[in-house]
Amino acid sequence: MFNIPYQGVVIRPPSEANSLIFQITLGCSDNHCIFCPAYKDKKFEIKDLKEIEKEIKYAARVYPQTRRIFFADGDPLVVEQGKLVQIFELVQDNFPKLTRIGIYGSIKSLENKSVNDLSELKKNKLGIIYLGFETGDEEVYKQIKKYGSPAGNVETCIKIKEAGIKVNVTIILGLGGKDLSVQHSANTAKILNLARPQQIAALTLMVVPGTPLYQMIEKDKFKQLEQFDFLEELRSLIEKLDDFKCLFFSNHASNYYSISARFPNDKGRILKELECIIKKKQKDILTPDFMRGL
Ligand code: SF4
Repeated sequence: MFNIPYQGVVIRPPSEANSLIFQITLGCSDNHCIFCPAYKDKKFEIKDLKEIEKEIKYAARVYPQTRRIFFADGDPLVVEQGKLVQIFELVQDNFPKLTRIGIYGSIKSLENKSVNDLSELKKNKLGIIYLGFETGDEEVYKQIKKYGSPAGNVETCIKIKEAGIKVNVTIILGLGGKDLSVQHSANTAKILNLARPQQIAALTLMVVPGTPLYQMIEKDKFKQLEQFDFLEELRSLIEKLDDFKCLFFSNHASNYYSISARFPNDKGRILKELECIIKKKQKDILTPDFMRGL
């Protein structure tokens, strides 16, 4: 019997937990970020259209009620526009109840996509792009060796919004370590204020053995934050956000304290909660390290 042949670790955002996943690419076309363990074991590859079609047709027979689909791996938007549209059409033809397609995007994969290209995908049910900013601080950005720049990420986010597609921007608490914590938080708030995505997801840094960041820590070149430092970074970032409308999540498995809020309405309440936890050092309500994950 044919099954969807998922290859290696498949990663998806928490809000795509109920989506049917198709890997239309394998790995990440950048794969240089020093903190990221996600696709280090995979050679980047764009899958063959015939292979993708076979998987879609099989899944349509097994899961005909599918309403949401998520395309993986790291940056499927790198696929050439004509082929991408064909894939989007294939899922629409095979899943009559489909309401939304979600996808990971990166500054690199979106470089060659125009607003018109993105609008074409929007017409083909692309509803949300998950875009990793990681940080708004240029020094931290250089340190993590991610492609592009914070300013480039802002432009990318604005381009997606112009096409009428929702953007979920991911940032990572603790990415500047102790030395760059203050500027990481302040400058990340700054670019979020410029980009104004509809959703913000704040993850918490987890250092994974085998990554370049892990080696930096071993050589004492990066000092990790402690539990309450992460929360202070989060508090300070939220405090500096302008009052634009967005959903703010810090409910990923990596986070110490789960937040799922509507800003600006819930901002005051969340700030008070964080201030109280930090002041009283309420360890008991935080997720213990052994329960955190990626
Ligand atoms: S672009 Fe994303 S998936 Fe690729 S290495 Fe960086 S963080 Fe990992």
